[in-house]
Amino acid sequence: MFKGTTARFRCYDCGEEFESCAVHPEEYGAFSCRTARADEAYALGLEEPTVEALSTAIRATQTYVALPEERRAKVFQLLFQALVDQPALGDWLLVDVHPRCPKCGSRRSNLTNTIESKPCRLPLVRCAAWANLDQESRVRVVDDLVGTLR
Ligand SMILES: [Zn+2]
Repeated sequence: MFKGTTARFRCYDCGEEFESCAVHPEEYGAFSCRTARADEAYALGLEEPTVEALSTAIRATQTYVALPEERRAKVFQLLFQALVDQPALGDWLLVDVHPRCPKCGSRRSNLTNTIESKPCRLPLVRCAAWANLDQESRVRVVDDLVGTLR
């Protein structure tokens, strides 16, 4: 579990204000992840050895290196998304997205402030399947994924 905080969000589309659990914006070393449907929040810690291994594999992949500079950050995020262990429900985890507005369902919102007095617990996401691959397999996986993302 990861210590999260309750955050207030304001919906861009309907103006609704609502609360949701999130990784604290000033917390270095963790992304927040959410499921696409159920909106449960998780934390992905950068202390995971995965991050280092993923960066190494990506830098060794010609298809990635060939991408235009401005595409690389987005592709890196999408790769991350594809390589985290998905929860048992089979619902995809999306990295760095905001919660769904309870009123209109929009995902476009602004984090307005955090409520320090209301901590919450975020389950930690792992990348066990990825971590078990050897370096050659990792490069192949990244190569295939970059190919599908272009
Ligand atoms: Zn809304």
